[in-house]
Order: sequence, then structure tokens, then C-alpha cells
Amino acid sequence: MKFEVTILGSSSATPVYNRNPTAQLLNCNEKFYLIDCGEGTQQQLIRFGFKANKIDFVFISHLHGDHYFGLIGLLSSLHLNGRIKPIKIFAPAALAEILELQFKHSETVIRYPVEFVATQTDAPAEIFENADLKVETIILNHRIPCTGFKFVQKKRLRKLIVEKLEAEEIPVDCYPLLKRGADLDLPDGRVLLNADYTTDSDRPKQYCYCSDTLFDETYFESIQGCDTLYHEATFLHEMVDRANQTHHTTALQAAEIAKMTGAAKLLIGHFSSRYKTLQPLLEEARSVFENTELAIEGNTYTI
Ligand SMILES: [Zn+2]
Ligand SMILES: [Zn+2]
Repeated sequence: MKFEVTILGSSSATPVYNRNPTAQLLNCNEKFYLIDCGEGTQQQLIRFGFKANKIDFVFISHLHGDHYFGLIGLLSSLHLNGRIKPIKIFAPAALAEILELQFKHSETVIRYPVEFVATQTDAPAEIFENADLKVETIILNHRIPCTGFKFVQKKRLRKLIVEKLEAEEIPVDCYPLLKRGADLDLPDGRVLLNADYTTDSDRPKQYCYCSDTLFDETYFESIQGCDTLYHEATFLHEMVDRANQTHHTTALQAAEIAKMTGAAKLLIGHFSSRYKTLQPLLEEARSVFENTELAIEGNTYTI
């Protein structure tokens, strides 16, 4: 089952050096989840060959512009392109008010349902669940209310050993029960032990998305042991005072967090406009946590 994330924007604050403000597209089993929607997100979707209309769920971490200024444009384009299916947006409550005002003054009546779910920052909460995954908030420490998101794959059904089933002419109507782990008694007297005809499904994976935040141990429990941790790394550690003032993290701190929480892989992003080249940020993070990669726009990372 596909579980991967494509980086659409990796810049903090402003677009610079061909880097765009934050946005990511998560693909779980060919369902698309947009995570943050900085200015330029539509162009990035087009550039990297994604259809915006495939997005049914949007997760906005907080209301600094570099994380949502692209949303009104995206919603408007979907409307103009004739979308009729609903879209669901998880975001701080005030975003609904902001969008309503924009639609009101442009006299736009969106022709598809836009459903809002307000995120809260008092405690982590499960905010979404479908057949493929569930999503929990991560309470981050930023200048304004901010949540990250933890995407947890659901455990899949057992995998059939089809060659063996076919070779022994087991009726296909037994397959669904075998996938669910049942042993079966066939009408012809044969007994099928599940373990002989199926294998366990892949281990469910977790993707944690930590956008803007200060280094703060209070959210570490939420991100414990994830397969891929995306963590902001706005500055090099020589700028740690600036990071503290602006409630951001350094590359070194992001790596320490990955190490402390037992992440398998770290992706760093939300790079400050002061860095034209990103190699020093990568090297700093790798000095603490070897399995680190830069969040490069257009790259897709398997979780
Ligand atoms: Zn930001
Ligand atoms: Zn911010």
C-alpha cells in the first residue's frame, strides 16, 4: 500500500531561491491529504503532476500566512473547475471566518461543500479516521496556537498466498474470511489453517508532521517511535537565540528530537530565507542523527 509524502513547499515565511512556503501532499493508498497550503501550492501541484481535485482532506497547522495563504486560491480554483464533491478542512477555528470573509467580498458562493473541523491546542486528539488511516493532533509550542499532525496507517488484512490457494483449488469465496484470519472447514471435509494460506500484512507506519515549534519536550510523547518524522529546522544552531525568540527549531535540535523520540527517519524543512544553500543544515542534523534528509520540493519520500 502506498504511503508517501511529496514536498510542495519547504520555505519559512517567504518564497525565496525557488523555494515555496510550506505545503506537503500525503498519498495513502491513492487518497490525497494536503498538509498546510502556503502561497504557490496550486502551481506546485501542477508542476509536479498532481490533480488538485483529488485532494479531499486539508490539514492546516496554524494561521501564519506561510502555512495557509494558498488555500483561498486553491478552493476558488476547485470551484471554478466545477468541483462538486466535498472537501474537509482541519484547521484553527478562525480560518473558517477568514475564508468566509474572502468569499463574501468576492460574492463567491462555493458550489461544493466545505466542511470545517476546528483543531484545539489544549490536548492531543484524534480528529480523523477512515479505512486507511487515522490522524491525531500534536500540540506544538509556537507564537500562536499550532498543531502538528500524526498520520497512522491502519493495520491491513492478511495477505493471501494465492499460488497455494489456486494450486489446491480453494474456492475464491473463502478468500475474504482467510484475509480476516479465520481457519476454515470446507464442505469437502478439508480443514484450512489460516497460517498455511496467508502471511501477515505489512506493519502499519506513522508519519509525524511538526511544523513551526520551539524545542519543547511536551510533544515528544505524541511523536514517539514514528517511521518518518518531518520536523521544522528553520535555523542553524548558531542562531538558537533567534530560534527561541521566534519559537522555531534549529537543525541540531530537530536531530536531537528525532534521536530522543526514536524516529527511524528525519526530514527537515521550513528553511529560513537566510540560507541559499541547505547543505550546512543537513550536515548539522546528520552530526546528531545520521538518517536525515532535506525536504526538497518535488521529491517524494516513502514513509
Ligand atoms: Zn512557518
Ligand atoms: Zn509559524
